[in-house]
Amino acid sequence: MPSSQDPHIAIVGASLTALTFTLSLLHHNPSLNPSKIVLYESRPPADQPGGQWYTRGATASESPTRPLLLTPNALKILEKLGIYDQIKNNGFAMSRTVYRDVDGKFLGSATFGGEKEFGYDALRIERMVLLPVLLRVIEDRGVKVEYHTSVRGVVSEDESGVTFEIRQAGRTTNVQADLLIGCDGIHSKVRSHVLGQPCNPIYHGLIMVPFKFDTTKIRYTSTFDPNELSLGVSTKKGTIMMIPADPSGTPSMSFRQFKYPEQTREGWEALDADKDRLAKMLTEDIEEWAAESDFVRSIFEQVKPQDTLVWPVYSLPKLDRWVSDGGKVIIIGDAAHSLIPAAAQGANVSIEDSWTLAKVLSESTHATETKTLQHWQSTRNERIVKAQKLSLQLMNARLPVEEQAKLPKDQVFDFESQSNDLKWLFEGVD
Ligand SMILES: Cc1cc2nc3c(=O)[nH]c(=O)nc-3n(C[C@H](O)[C@H](O)[C@H](O)COP(=O)(O)OP(=O)(O)OC[C@H]3O[C@@H](n4cnc5c(N)ncnc54)[C@H](O)[C@@H]3O)c2cc1C
Repeated sequence: MPSSQDPHIAIVGASLTALTFTLSLLHHNPSLNPSKIVLYESRPPADQPGGQWYTRGATASESPTRPLLLTPNALKILEKLGIYDQIKNNGFAMSRTVYRDVDGKFLGSATFGGEKEFGYDALRIERMVLLPVLLRVIEDRGVKVEYHTSVRGVVSEDESGVTFEIRQAGRTTNVQADLLIGCDGIHSKVRSHVLGQPCNPIYHGLIMVPFKFDTTKIRYTSTFDPNELSLGVSTKKGTIMMIPADPSGTPSMSFRQFKYPEQTREGWEALDADKDRLAKMLTEDIEEWAAESDFVRSIFEQVKPQDTLVWPVYSLPKLDRWVSDGGKVIIIGDAAHSLIPAAAQGANVSIEDSWTLAKVLSESTHATETKTLQHWQSTRNERIVKAQKLSLQLMNARLPVEEQAKLPKDQVFDFESQSNDLKWLFEGVD
């Protein structure tokens, strides 16, 4: 921890990583003064229109669904932070996703949790349910969140701390802190200071377009079990996923992946706002799906333009540095390692970052800090590399079968041999 008596800790962002890091910091360092921890978030509060995970101008119920699958490695930490009991009944509990062909034949399954084996079932929960719980807890503890405040970058760093620039209410000012933690996501402004150079995310040439549907409106054939709610149906055009996040499992989400050229930020915003176009992309070849499966058709018949959004698939190359030379600026979460979303691990490993970094900071003294942080970073990176490989394999396993066949074998998830081999991931970190 910084050697000053009452350290000022600045955190950039107020999303999942920032909130779980703040809670972990208070957990591991009970003597910290919460009023000296400040979160700087460029958007409005998460639970207000315009905040994180809202569609601009929409209310929560009108916003498209943005679920998050939390696996035992993260749930174990959320339990230690006193959050798990507050959320466990507000999401869809599950242990695995089953994959079938269009005739209902079992193809395999991917395990995401299990109370018996890992201590927890996986929990799929809406971000709009999870984030306000985390926020309320940190605000109750006396931590301040400065909304509508963008951190523009790090100005300088020396023995005494770090100076960074913020933009708030049309004014630019410099702020000083003993420690600056960048939890500002894939397009991080803090990252270039840590790396000593800019590092742009890699666009994978793909967009995901999700939409909502109601499982009670599916026309099941006798070969499908209507109670099997976390399901992937393999079709000639790729795998259609059913992704429930509500405890009942009835409202659900699915998506399709499309090849799409990279856009500027404004271009992505324009595509996201063009709901009719997104709905058309989802449904224009519905007759081809219908020929193969009425089950799949009954899902796509439910697409409504207002329920769609666009998720361009970006990730970061492996970064060897998450800690600045001076040790006063650290990046975690998507700012340090944004994963392809297919293995649903981005948020889970970010929660691991939060917990482990807060622990390392509490245990190290000024003299040992640099060495301890370097060790922490390389241990974390080993796990992230494995999680990224798993994500790529699962993304490829959703491609049409003939496209999968063109790829090297170790780049496609093997449901038979791999789905029981995720112990390393779900057992988590201490
Ligand atoms: C389609 C999709 C599905 C996913 N599904 C899953 C899943 O099921 N399970 C899972 O574990 N992960 C999943 N992920 C990954 C997960 O969403 C991310 O890993 C997670 O949100 C990372 O959290 P974060 O807090 O690090 O970053 P973010 O959630 O991106 O938050 C960054 C925050 O910083 C703020 N910010 C940015 N720049 C600045 C600035 N300059 N100044 C001030 N504030 C700033 C932003 O407004 C934002 O609030 C998915 C991702 C995608 C795209």
